[in-house]
Amino acid sequence: MKQELLRNLPKVDEIIRDKRIETLMEKLPREKVVDIVRESINSLRTMILEEKITDETGSGYELAVSMSVMEAESTIPGSLRPVINATGVVLHTNLGRAPLSERACEKVMSVAGNYSTLEYDPEKGERGSRHSHVEGLIKKVTGAEAALLVNNNAAATMVVLAALGKGREIIVSRGELVEIGGSFRIPDIMEESGAHLREVGTTNKTRIGDYEKAINENTGALLKVHTSNYRVIGFTEEASLSELRALGEKYGLPVIYDMGSGLMTDLSRWGVREPVAGDGLRSGADLVLFSGDKLLGGPQAGIIAGKKDLVDRIRNHPLMRAFRADKMTFAAMEGTLEDYYDKETALENIPVLRMITESYDSLCDRALKLKVLIEDIPGSQFSASVIDTDGAVGGGSAPDAVLRSSACAVDCGNISAETAERILRSGAVPIVAIIRDGRVIFDVRTLKDEELYVIRDKMAELASAGEKQA
Ligand SMILES: *Cc1c(COP(=O)(O)O)cnc(C)c1O
Repeated sequence: MKQELLRNLPKVDEIIRDKRIETLMEKLPREKVVDIVRESINSLRTMILEEKITDETGSGYELAVSMSVMEAESTIPGSLRPVINATGVVLHTNLGRAPLSERACEKVMSVAGNYSTLEYDPEKGERGSRHSHVEGLIKKVTGAEAALLVNNNAAATMVVLAALGKGREIIVSRGELVEIGGSFRIPDIMEESGAHLREVGTTNKTRIGDYEKAINENTGALLKVHTSNYRVIGFTEEASLSELRALGEKYGLPVIYDMGSGLMTDLSRWGVREPVAGDGLRSGADLVLFSGDKLLGGPQAGIIAGKKDLVDRIRNHPLMRAFRADKMTFAAMEGTLEDYYDKETALENIPVLRMITESYDSLCDRALKLKVLIEDIPGSQFSASVIDTDGAVGGGSAPDAVLRSSACAVDCGNISAETAERILRSGAVPIVAIIRDGRVIFDVRTLKDEELYVIRDKMAELASAGEKQA
């Protein structure tokens, strides 16, 4: 019997002539579809050999077609694609940190498929610098004399240390030897750059005198690192930037400040107490470094801003070639920084800032809207309620900021939370929600209005899947 089933397995050529398979070729390359069909027939063969398929299972032809269609449809959306973030975590590292503003997206689109002025000065008709597109804007927003953009803040730290500290000692407080996201560790980056870490002070207390005692003829710079993803509380002491500046001036040493987030406008009114990039320079840093895709709300990038002579030295370092960012990054950064021209509209136009500053009342309204949409799903046993949640900025920023938020919590009746979670994650646009105490929780802070309807449709799918199960 096994032999007969194997003999009756369809051929690839037969299957690809099926109408259902032919239509897939409009959406996927022909070769890809053929591969999928071949794979499906191979898995059928394995299933027959393992006796998972018997006479009663149905025709091999139909099985091969339906397996191929299912597999093909799941690959159409591709691998890197949008998701709906219902976690309430604004800068979700796994979900790509900051979504870009409309202006930034338009800029990216306009240069992505065209030649561009990336390194061309159309006025002079000669070669230009890719940094020129954003340098003026960074200077304007931060008050820096000069600025550069690289691929991320890790690259920024690396090139700054290599250019200013190679073979020399860089003094850092023991309270600031941070690790970000598992792979960025200040001592490791320092080692790779060729600079030598000179630790001073203790975990909780470092005074300006500790820095001064460590200075010798081989000292290259004073480095301050913002403890962006943790806080030391209790009996603590740190040297201020103005103290560091005074010390730097006395010994002729630059003060470098790794600020982490790149916040451009004060958000303390909303409980987010992170240093503002421009303040870092005004309070005494000669150079500040920060990410583009954390609280700045732009593309993945690292920005180096500050004194012109230092920036020039970094600009000419060979690592700059390895760390230089792509045209799409420059385009997205130019668009994002233009959004900062007007501080008030920046809070509206830059998605990260809009989400962080949205009022509790407005969040409650959206949660209520989702509750009504879900309760109106015909024939479902879902019961939904509006609940308070504690949202987070995320992305290793402002670890102590609690964003009082609102969510729609759904009890799915006889459908398990695991089934719900699996269905929500399936399909072209996965929905990432929170499962807590057997309920599905959609935090609306990170949801757009139109996404509420996508969630409703997916929950309707879940309701009908549950019916079949019951
Ligand atoms: C996030 C962070 C980094 C790393 O920045 P990436 O842009 O993720 O490379 C470095 N230093 C500090 C203090 C940070 O917060």
